[in-house]
Amino acid sequence: MAQKQLVKSTSGIRGIIGKGMNPSLAADYGAAFGTLLGRGKVVVGRDTRPSGAMILPAVKSGLVSVGIDVVDIGIVPTPTVEIAVKQLRAGGGICVTASHNPAEWNALKFFNDRGEFITPDQYRRLDKIFNSDITSHKPFNKLGKVTEQPGWVEKHVERTLKFRLVNRSAIRRRKFKVVVDAVNGAGSQALPLLLERLGVKVIRLNCDGDGRFTRGAEPVARNLGQLRRAVSKHRADLGFACDPDADRLALVDEKGKAIGEELTLTIAVQAVLSKKKGPTVINLSTSKVTEDVARQFGSKVYYSKVGESNVVEMMRKTHGVIGGEGNGGVIYPDFHAGRDALVAAVLVLSQLATSKKSLSEEVGTFPKYFNIKTKGQLKKNFSSRLKQFEKQARRHLGRHRVDRRDGLRFDFEQGWLQIRSSNTEPIYRLIVETTSKTLTAKLSRDVMGFFS
Ligand code: MG
Repeated sequence: MAQKQLVKSTSGIRGIIGKGMNPSLAADYGAAFGTLLGRGKVVVGRDTRPSGAMILPAVKSGLVSVGIDVVDIGIVPTPTVEIAVKQLRAGGGICVTASHNPAEWNALKFFNDRGEFITPDQYRRLDKIFNSDITSHKPFNKLGKVTEQPGWVEKHVERTLKFRLVNRSAIRRRKFKVVVDAVNGAGSQALPLLLERLGVKVIRLNCDGDGRFTRGAEPVARNLGQLRRAVSKHRADLGFACDPDADRLALVDEKGKAIGEELTLTIAVQAVLSKKKGPTVINLSTSKVTEDVARQFGSKVYYSKVGESNVVEMMRKTHGVIGGEGNGGVIYPDFHAGRDALVAAVLVLSQLATSKKSLSEEVGTFPKYFNIKTKGQLKKNFSSRLKQFEKQARRHLGRHRVDRRDGLRFDFEQGWLQIRSSNTEPIYRLIVETTSKTLTAKLSRDVMGFFS
């Protein structure tokens, strides 16, 4: 019954504490994941939200009960779990975090032996085990063992500093001043530590790591008022904001303007492609700015369906050298194939230090698009309406190309739009992005009118 209130997808099992998410469910999922793996050890960690102190031990119990050894790395960013899985040659990992969801939520994110989100197929097998009685609880002398292994934040930072394509000396010379807003989440220690190692003067905002989300947890512009004010007050060069599990990074420029999460990826793409040739992979909801900038470097751009595992899969197929999602999630696969706010931060600083530009000047060199994201309640006839819309799309958009992999995405002369149903909520999302503010607003209105 409680399961009804859970949100399940390949990016995790999410629920509100006491209304779906609880320790017995977490223990059952731990046991099911251990059964799926069969052997080997599992790395576990969590973000700072207080309910994690209840959920994580339950996950560990479940794993141990099916004979799996557990390495508990404590409070860490999600990408730190991914790195530890790879480094320790573990069979998998579980991070207890509801990412950008508010404090009342918690969730389990599952990783395979590559330290990547489990694939849709692995997820189906996990859920099948969870829903059946085939979990193999072991007798007392065959249980797994738990080891605590602190220090992984430090290791994550050290390894991030070693990227060859990061211009460390230029970053040092630039003497950046940066305000970090970690929403008191898992990035509270990691992000300031990383920056200080690069000679950056760090001003800490919401970096107590106590799990009190003093702003909206998602690092979108409307939640960054405090950071914007702090950047202006301290005359900082920029502001960094991450979500509670530090896999997404948003930027505030030196004028105190939140430039939007989209451009974190654009700048990271510049930083990588200026040093390295190869394809770029982004999802179908990502701003065209990133494609335009990647093309300036002669990079071939591939689009994947929305969702980190889809981006990573496409990167593997196409040998992408940089990729990610427009929500501030940067993936640099030479290091590990997952979104990582620390990676995003060093790439942004390296780019600014190399170009010798301020953040607003750097952004000023990008093509200008106007973007509106809206959502509406999903109706039963949504898929037939999609078909009808496609038939008459020419009337709204003129000549266009259509991609049907994730809802519908239309590319037309002045821009693009995508309409798709959400993977996690009973809603549909519409994104319109064109070179004209008026056209973006008009299309957004017209298409919403069609679907409502
Ligand atoms: Mg996150």
